[in-house]
Amino acid sequence: MLYDFVIVGGGIIGLATARELLYRFPRTKLVLIEKEGTLASHQSSHNSGVIHSGIYYKKDSLKAKLCREGREAIWAYCKKRSIPFKTVGKLIVALTADEVQRLDDLYQRGMENGVPGLILVEGKDIKEYEPYCNGLKAIYSPSTGIVDWKRVCLEFAQDAKRSGAELVTSAEVTSIEKRSGSFIVSTPNNEYESRMVITCGGLYSDRLAQMTNGSPHPKIIPFRGDYLLLKKEKCHLIKGNIYPVPDPRLPFLGVHFTPTMDGRVLLGPSVVLAFAREGYAFDQLNMGELIETLTYPGFVKLALKYWKTGVTELYRDVVIDAYLKDLRKYIPEIEPGDCLPGPAGVRAQAVSPDGTMVDDFQLDYDDGIMHVRNAPSPAATSSLAIAKYIADALPVNTKMLRT
Ligand SMILES: Cc1cc2nc3c(=O)[nH]c(=O)nc-3n(C[C@H](O)[C@H](O)[C@H](O)COP(=O)(O)OP(=O)(O)OC[C@H]3O[C@@H](n4cnc5c(N)ncnc54)[C@H](O)[C@@H]3O)c2cc1C
Repeated sequence: MLYDFVIVGGGIIGLATARELLYRFPRTKLVLIEKEGTLASHQSSHNSGVIHSGIYYKKDSLKAKLCREGREAIWAYCKKRSIPFKTVGKLIVALTADEVQRLDDLYQRGMENGVPGLILVEGKDIKEYEPYCNGLKAIYSPSTGIVDWKRVCLEFAQDAKRSGAELVTSAEVTSIEKRSGSFIVSTPNNEYESRMVITCGGLYSDRLAQMTNGSPHPKIIPFRGDYLLLKKEKCHLIKGNIYPVPDPRLPFLGVHFTPTMDGRVLLGPSVVLAFAREGYAFDQLNMGELIETLTYPGFVKLALKYWKTGVTELYRDVVIDAYLKDLRKYIPEIEPGDCLPGPAGVRAQAVSPDGTMVDDFQLDYDDGIMHVRNAPSPAATSSLAIAKYIADALPVNTKMLRT
């Protein structure tokens, strides 16, 4: 059978794209292929569960545009489908004079990005928003929320299925071969011929791009984020999201306090090199993948540049008291013994050979194939907008697709 679309990867981006393509081009034939037995097994279910408002991102970047559109779309979607979410808001808190300066810049950026309702909060007023939080100054964002992204993924999957998508799990794509006018996408047990292919492989997005002779750059470097969980009796200390002022050199938002939809409070995530692309703990090691990372010139340059930050992160990750010391700068009522080991996620961070971490979303289209090469946070928030962006970019001729 000749498909119109093969989507590789059943995370939030693949699922949102499947749904969008079938809404836009009904009666087309689409199959989504996922290597795991369950959809959304990786980043899309191992994250902070935040619906970002879009403060941080450079003006005119894809992140700024698609986060803004995606945030509005996801609110509407959750309401329509009765998916539980909460608009708990978010406070970005400056602790030092230097951070106050950066906070003011961040506020300007948030305003430029059209984030609704942002408020600059003086230190003495912080407790009106977060009664247990200390700080010199803060930004309050009322339009930040929380949701269970896995739940959203499963709803997207239902939509796609209802519109006729085939969702194939436990099938790893091992090659993508270009023929004249079509592609052959192979898994160990099957071959799928398709007019167009969209790869949304998260932690393996670079490998999938290379299957069609795409550039080996940027390479995905896996950065694990470990969370702590606040003891139940202390969860009342946190009302909404509390974030630090991020380090402008890095594409990570820093260790934050995040309430979850099931009533817990996550503290984290840290940023440490994962020893496997899907390595969720120190003892999950894939020697081949680790060597591949350590010998990548971009990683070597990155490590040389940020080795101090890396060592501090590693220390904090291993020594809970060090982690706690930082958290207590914001919420001094958190005491030793209040934090328990929590879940972990692995970020797929694209890194260029010169050691630059690719900040913006990167989607490369060429002659029938779209590779989503970099879709880090806030890609879950932006997922519905990314899906539209992909559908807009594909040169689909509706007549051609009426099979
Ligand atoms: C710790 C952490 C916290 C985050 N917090 C937030 C947040 O609060 N808010 C937010 O908006 N974003 C957040 N993000 C980012 C967000 O989770 C990701 O950007 C998003 O989930 C990416 O989705 P994806 O579909 O691209 O990747 P994934 O969810 O990783 O999906 C990729 C899929 O491709 C499959 N795959 C790979 N290779 C193959 C192959 N060869 N054949 C078949 N299948 C294959 C994988 O098994 C996987 O299921 C966070 C991410 C992390 C790691």
